[in-house]
Amino acid sequence: MNREKSQAFHHQAQRTLVGGVNSPVRAFKSVGGDPVYFESALGAFLRDVDGNEYLDYVGSWGPMILGHGHPDVVEAIVEQARRGTSFGAPSPLEVKLAEKVASMVPSVEKVRFVNSGTEATMSAIRLARGATGRDKIVKFEGCYHGHGDSFLIAAGSGSLTFGEPDSPGVTPGTAHDTLLAPYNSLDAVRRLVEQNPGEIAAVILEPVAGNMGVIPPADGFLTGLRTLCDEAGMLLIFDEVMTGFRVAAGGAQALYGVAPDITTMGKVIGGGLPVGAYGASAELMDHVSPAGPIYQAGTLSGNPLAMAAGLATLERLTPEVYDELEQRGSQLEAGLIDAAKSAGVPACVNRVGSMLTLFFGEAPVRSLTDAKRCDAARFGRFFHHMLDAGIALPPSAFEAWFLSAAHDAAQIERTLEHASVFFRNREG
Ligand SMILES: *Cc1c(COP(=O)(O)O)cnc(C)c1O
Repeated sequence: MNREKSQAFHHQAQRTLVGGVNSPVRAFKSVGGDPVYFESALGAFLRDVDGNEYLDYVGSWGPMILGHGHPDVVEAIVEQARRGTSFGAPSPLEVKLAEKVASMVPSVEKVRFVNSGTEATMSAIRLARGATGRDKIVKFEGCYHGHGDSFLIAAGSGSLTFGEPDSPGVTPGTAHDTLLAPYNSLDAVRRLVEQNPGEIAAVILEPVAGNMGVIPPADGFLTGLRTLCDEAGMLLIFDEVMTGFRVAAGGAQALYGVAPDITTMGKVIGGGLPVGAYGASAELMDHVSPAGPIYQAGTLSGNPLAMAAGLATLERLTPEVYDELEQRGSQLEAGLIDAAKSAGVPACVNRVGSMLTLFFGEAPVRSLTDAKRCDAARFGRFFHHMLDAGIALPPSAFEAWFLSAAHDAAQIERTLEHASVFFRNREG
């Protein structure tokens, strides 16, 4: 496959963009090779600057649940663009989208719109700290909550119960307030609560982890956290930036029947435009300014173009869409497992609805430690094999693949054929 123009752009990009990209994983560092530059997308397909087409399993990392360029979403954006792209003042679409979100997400009565998932999680922990008067938070190894300082924390060594900065520029003081536990380990959280009595404001997690590859919550994990939080006066924050409107209309909290205190949203909520949100009960949200004292603001928050795209997307998420996504997801899962098994390749698939990850390793994968045991180098070779066959997977072994309503059974069949070729090839 000829990607000369992509290569030329990447060469040019290095001069004025850091690493040639605006978000690190796009640079292909974990799979090797040069990133592909895209110029258009429609339905389930992407087209690169050299004119090659790819079946897209990235979906812009989650937002494109209806597929690219859904005519109703495009129309909503164009129509709003003609009326104005930003007012810096209230407008009706914000109210409509807020009502839509509150009607879909069980635990949310009021929301605040922001511009990214990162902003949503940063604001959510400020709310949790402000409302509880406590400083510390618990997060889980391998969960990603955007690039806010409090979340760029790695597990501390030895007897330390608090974390250490996971990026230069994050201060030890910030790291001191973030406690880490392995995903799916209630015992670890229980220990942290015992060691930090009355100090923990909130426990934040991806209710289905998607940023270390897909890892579903173990039986009893979410309800166990709910109970621990209630007992210790901590708030439970579900970071549903990825799972919200994705694994079910009401997100993971609807799917698993566990209500968090605060929900963060992003990705699908903006229908491909930059939107994030955090929401909770009216009582809790009224701590946020201007109703309450906890400050949070944004020049482009509730931007009418973004609200229009989000609303057009959420309005089209019918039960039929989720049924179809589930069918396509199970077709892909079963096909990948079959193909790997019949070729004798050690692999397993974790899936919740239309998000899944193929791990090159033995099941079960239930934590970051398990995920890291899988063969990332083999994934890199698999990624390039698929890319050259016109199938775009996320460029990392530790990411979720996303299906959209525009993916059909024949496209998934074609994906499985190309995957089989790779599995049967011993060099793979
Ligand atoms: C993508 C993601 C974020 C960050 O959202 P951005 O819009 O990239 O800032 C936060 N949390 C989770 C669970 C995510 O998947």
